[in-house]
Amino acid sequence: MPQIMIIGSGFGGLTAVKTLRKQGCRDPITLISPRPVLFYYPSLIWVPAGLRSEADLTIPLKKFFKREDVRHHEGTVMGLYPNERQVKTDNGTLAFDKLIIASGGRFIKKLPGIEHAYTPCEGYEPTKAYSDRLAALEGGTLAFGFGGNPKEPAAMRGGPIFEFLFGIDTMLRKQKRRNKFELVFFSPAPEPGKRLGVKAVKALLNEMEKYQIRTHLGHKMKGFSENAVHTEGGDIQSDLTLFMPGMTGPAWAANSGLPISEGGMIKGDAHCRVPGFEGIYVVGDSSSLPGPDWLPKQAHMADLQAVTAVKNLLAEKAGQPAEHQFKTELICIVDTLDKGMLVYRTPKRTMLMPKLRVLNWAKRFFEWHYLRTYR
Ligand SMILES: Cc1cc2nc3c(=O)[nH]c(=O)nc-3n(C[C@H](O)[C@H](O)[C@H](O)COP(=O)(O)OP(=O)(O)OC[C@H]3O[C@@H](n4cnc5c(N)ncnc54)[C@H](O)[C@@H]3O)c2cc1C
Repeated sequence: MPQIMIIGSGFGGLTAVKTLRKQGCRDPITLISPRPVLFYYPSLIWVPAGLRSEADLTIPLKKFFKREDVRHHEGTVMGLYPNERQVKTDNGTLAFDKLIIASGGRFIKKLPGIEHAYTPCEGYEPTKAYSDRLAALEGGTLAFGFGGNPKEPAAMRGGPIFEFLFGIDTMLRKQKRRNKFELVFFSPAPEPGKRLGVKAVKALLNEMEKYQIRTHLGHKMKGFSENAVHTEGGDIQSDLTLFMPGMTGPAWAANSGLPISEGGMIKGDAHCRVPGFEGIYVVGDSSSLPGPDWLPKQAHMADLQAVTAVKNLLAEKAGQPAEHQFKTELICIVDTLDKGMLVYRTPKRTMLMPKLRVLNWAKRFFEWHYLRTYR
């Protein structure tokens, strides 16, 4: 029986598993990831307020794998030999017939002094360390920012930084110590969050003004030091810096022979196929796929792409043309700890819903609903 291999137990990889089984595929599936867990990044924003712990965000997958009849190979992919149909891991080399790559992105940590900034994209530990430092501070300046990958415009993630910024503002107000802190938002982009649409940028900047959050925009970043963020437009004094760097693709892909975009991602087509390599698909944050310049690097997009990759994989296996294309859809609730603002964008329309309490509840409900499948 053909071996289906999936790299990654994140959003894209697990949606691929569910879709394969839902479509009736009974072929053996092997999924490779360092640990049999799903890490639920979207709720990291609630760690500073003590609303989520590591255990809340790290979902064990053993039961899910058993239910779906998936063999989990505990390992980290080190290389791929597409022509030999082999994946090399730090725990052995495995053969495959069909491969779905969903191993996520890597963050570019090249700026000098980056070790002085906390990077929440790396998961629970840095976010908790940041939260503990913030809890111990009696006052000072807190800087929040995000960067990009100049060679891959879609490879940036600003949404969660807006959420940390507004969430921490709300938390400090609730703790009655907001007056002891200055909050500064910085971005090399003059219109940060532009991918969410022009109206959203305006709304986000208006919120910052309303809550006395200083902005430092449009200046190329030079680096960080213990008490400052350095930009070409001057320094920002900062006692605590939260920074989301731009993204690039998986390190192991570089020497694999797969087509790599200028920004370091694995190239795919509108059907999530890796051109020139039959039976190999790429989805989610690892991928560089065709679409508008605001094509989001989001869990939701990884899910949509994984469904498309599976449908095409099964079509090709049945000798039919792989014609399924993924839908481009940005859905983002910018949470502020007690409320949320909704941005919805497709190539045809953009919708912005103002800050409402019900959207905070919606984000909490969605987390429960999404994770229920894996528990
Ligand atoms: C703080 C934060 C908040 C976010 N909020 C939202 C949100 O509200 N909504 C939204 O839609 N998106 C959100 N995102 C983005 C979302 O988390 C990502 O877009 C999503 O995780 C991408 O899914 P993926 O499957 O491509 O990769 P991932 O979810 O990153 O999964 C990658 C998997 O591959 C594994 N892996 C990595 N390297 C290897 C290797 N070499 N070998 C084997 N396995 C490997 C990893 O362990 C992991 O299991 C947020 C991200 C962050 C950081």
